[in-house]
Amino acid sequence: MDGTDGTEGTGAERAARRDAAVRAAVERGLLGPGAPLAGLLDVVGIRESAAALRAAFDAVVAPGTPVLHAFAVKAAPLVPVVRLLHALGLGAEVASPGELALARAAGVPPEHTVLDSPAKTPQELREALELGIAVNADNPQELERIDGLMRTTGSRSPLGVRVNPQVGGGSIEALSTATATSKFGVALRDEGAREWVVRAFLDRPWLTRLHTHTGSQGIPPALMAEGVAAAYALAEEINERAGRRQVDTVDIGGGLPVNFTSDETSPTYAAYARELRAAVPGLFDGRYGLVTEFGRSLLAKHGTLVARVEYAKSAGGRPVAVTHAGVQVATRTVYAPGAWPLRIAAYDAEGRPKDGPDVVQDVAGPACFAGDLLATGRALPLLRQGDYAAALDTGAYYFAHHYGYNSLARPGVYGFAPDGEGGVAFAVVRDPQPVQEIVAEAGGAHADALTSALAPRETRPARG
Ligand SMILES: *Cc1c(COP(=O)(O)O)cnc(C)c1O
Repeated sequence: MDGTDGTEGTGAERAARRDAAVRAAVERGLLGPGAPLAGLLDVVGIRESAAALRAAFDAVVAPGTPVLHAFAVKAAPLVPVVRLLHALGLGAEVASPGELALARAAGVPPEHTVLDSPAKTPQELREALELGIAVNADNPQELERIDGLMRTTGSRSPLGVRVNPQVGGGSIEALSTATATSKFGVALRDEGAREWVVRAFLDRPWLTRLHTHTGSQGIPPALMAEGVAAAYALAEEINERAGRRQVDTVDIGGGLPVNFTSDETSPTYAAYARELRAAVPGLFDGRYGLVTEFGRSLLAKHGTLVARVEYAKSAGGRPVAVTHAGVQVATRTVYAPGAWPLRIAAYDAEGRPKDGPDVVQDVAGPACFAGDLLATGRALPLLRQGDYAAALDTGAYYFAHHYGYNSLARPGVYGFAPDGEGGVAFAVVRDPQPVQEIVAEAGGAHADALTSALAPRETRPARG
């Protein structure tokens, strides 16, 4: 299965690639006593998911419909990942100056880039409009800023407005963007809001897009489809009142949920695309271009975070494996374990899958607080000193989302793929962070800032 036909490989194939990669990473020394933590990315899996996404929408749109799949860079902000997805025909959705810089460094052209974020500064807006990047205005004040830029400099950027269809939330409140009081977009069901949006378009012939993103993990696809249907109905209303096809593109956001309980992909892009077409047929009949913004579902299942067991101990009768993966690389899981449980796989010191009877144990991280646990009370083959614990499905929003607690270093990230001779080839995606860089980021160049420049007057060195 090479993924070019849009079919994703089976979960068993994925697991076999992962096992081979962990073993090879240990053999190659990418993991070991001196490198106790690494992120591994399955390039075959990423290719399959990108191809599956494109095939899913190709199968439901009218021939010739322009479709841009803009990868939500937030989900895996790594330049080589964005470049790989670009090479596979995807664009980039960015939501900060940093993400825009990453997309540009990856070579994503402006016409394949979309800027969304709730707090764009005038300077960010100006840069985006100068580059010709698509921008979705979040709110009336932002639209006013864009008005000013359009008056003075003009732009060929496709411009839109983000609307919140207020269709409700999913199982994770923090990731539900279409609740009644969500901070995102123009709340469409609020009094007068719908009419305001319609007028905003009628007054601005250059507004051509509507954007909606109902949420991320935890939103059922049917609720996402409801949000898309609301944006479509609004586009139809605007076009009707404008007497022309002013809205020519609907950006339907991302947010397809990921299955964190097994190696299977579920739901699939194909099923979601079919569900969307059934719910909103008019959006697929060729009158509208489409933009999508998937993030987690493209990457999550292709990442594995592998941590060496530094010590194996026991407390209160429960075995505890103290590993190098904790809050710094699995922040959401550690702080909200109920919402973000991760599967853990056990490997021995040579990187081979461990067998043996399941033992209920805790898998802990290296940070200095008691709650720094990757998993509690988990039944696994007993982890021993020198073994490896792997946190699965961590290709999005985990090891690429470092959190600086305890000044723990960012781990190396390596892509892997078959080497053509039955083995595994690796490529560095991100080098492990050296401690000098941690010092530099911690104000190392300003070591005297508080002792010297701001010393009490009498002891301050005289200025010459
Ligand atoms: C986070 C986000 C996405 C991507 O969501 P995923 O759950 O990673 O697919 C897409 N669009 C917007 C506007 C977002 O904020």
